[in-house]
Amino acid sequence: MNNINRRDFVKMMGAAGAATTGALLLPFEAYAGASGHVVVVGGGTGGATCANYLTRWAPNAKVTLIEKDSKYSTCFFSNEVIMGMATMDSITYGYDGLKKRGVNVVHDTVTGIDTGGKKVITGSGSISYDILVLSPGITFDHSTVDGSSDAVAEQMPHAWKAGPQTSLLAKQIAGMRQGGLLIIAPPENPFRCPPGPYERAALALAHFKEHNPTAQVVILDAKEKHSKQGAFREGWTRVYGGEATAEGNFEGPNLKWIKGSNGGKVVEVNGATNTVITEDGEEHKGDVVNYIPKQVAGAICKDAGLVNATGWCDVDLDFKSKVCDIVFVIGDASVASPMPKSGHSASSQAKNVAATIAAQMAGEEAPPWTGSNTCYSFISEKYGISVVAIYAVKDGKRVKVKGAGGVAFKGKSLRHHAKEAKYARGWYKGITSDMFG
Ligand code: FAD
Repeated sequence: MNNINRRDFVKMMGAAGAATTGALLLPFEAYAGASGHVVVVGGGTGGATCANYLTRWAPNAKVTLIEKDSKYSTCFFSNEVIMGMATMDSITYGYDGLKKRGVNVVHDTVTGIDTGGKKVITGSGSISYDILVLSPGITFDHSTVDGSSDAVAEQMPHAWKAGPQTSLLAKQIAGMRQGGLLIIAPPENPFRCPPGPYERAALALAHFKEHNPTAQVVILDAKEKHSKQGAFREGWTRVYGGEATAEGNFEGPNLKWIKGSNGGKVVEVNGATNTVITEDGEEHKGDVVNYIPKQVAGAICKDAGLVNATGWCDVDLDFKSKVCDIVFVIGDASVASPMPKSGHSASSQAKNVAATIAAQMAGEEAPPWTGSNTCYSFISEKYGISVVAIYAVKDGKRVKVKGAGGVAFKGKSLRHHAKEAKYARGWYKGITSDMFG
């Protein structure tokens, strides 16, 4: 390494991740002595990034990425697709870039993990590994809401995994009758992308303003408060009108947010009638219902015995599974608290884990762990908000670094928010190039 050692580099990597995820521009000496076979399961944000960075930092190791689908659509920017502001093509990627970098990409479904025998079982056979990284994302848990099922999602699309669900919800929104009602029903914490439902509501308002000005959006929330609540409320008020009510809800000309204890918590859904029933017994019928079910770690984690009682994977500070120390679990499937379940978190964890594995395979000390999260949300196509946090290990715990990060730009002019929207588009280019090469 030129004028910088690995320890300093990783510190810088965390800091760089605050603005984009682009650590690529920084110099880094590969661990030439790293050899062996790393298998990464899941070619989404965490897995693709980890495989990509392993080819840089462990160039003499074999890296296999197992992903069930031949294309990946990012959830980030899928709310724009749903509201007709971007196309599915613009958020969809293939794996040729990773193949060119030397990743052995296998399109297959992992059906089992044999940790004792160090192999993963796939639909067409088995693949042995020295080190395994799991980043399978989420699966839906329908057990807490009556009527909830994968089949219901065909009538009330969650669009919480980008792909056909995104296109289905986009079609329903575009075809909604004039003056119709869109219900968005987000789950309890923890879930993938905590600010996502509220960005979706904002972009729905932007879409309806132009195409369906009397349409209404109601958010029936299972929670008492939500991610970036202050910043969203400020944005909603300034761009679409409305304010907080005395009961703690939010109400504008075309938007209502109802908190869980005020009748927001959905306990039953009926896809055939497009209705949801809330805890207070009220029945709400929508023209379009975006019911987002409760989530747990990707199904393969449960099958492999890696989940805790709440359905997520407990990990050590270096993201090794607490159940099996030759398996790393990153991304949404892991309990990475205080990091949220976001693409940026998954990307940051993936880079840390790639560096840890490369060092470990080379028989060197792993670099110190630092993490970052930046979460942009659009209030409209033109205006954005963001939250930034840096994480480190202190006294044996993963903690948010005090004084680093914050919410942009509370109380500032819309000119600042227009800049945030531009930064968000730059962030998207950075994170997808980290994933797909
Ligand atoms: P994923 O990216 O979902 O990848 C998992 C992959 O594993 C998938 O490709 C899947 O096919 C594969 N897989 C699963 N099981 C198997 C198996 N058994 N065999 C083979 N392959 C398998 N985050 C941000 O940082 N910023 C944003 O602006 C943002 N916006 C979002 C907006 C919305 C509407 C949503 C829903 C999410 C958003 N996110 C955002 C969150 C982000 O998309 C996720 O946190 C991130 O994708 C998690 O990465 P992951 O690797 O854990 O899972």
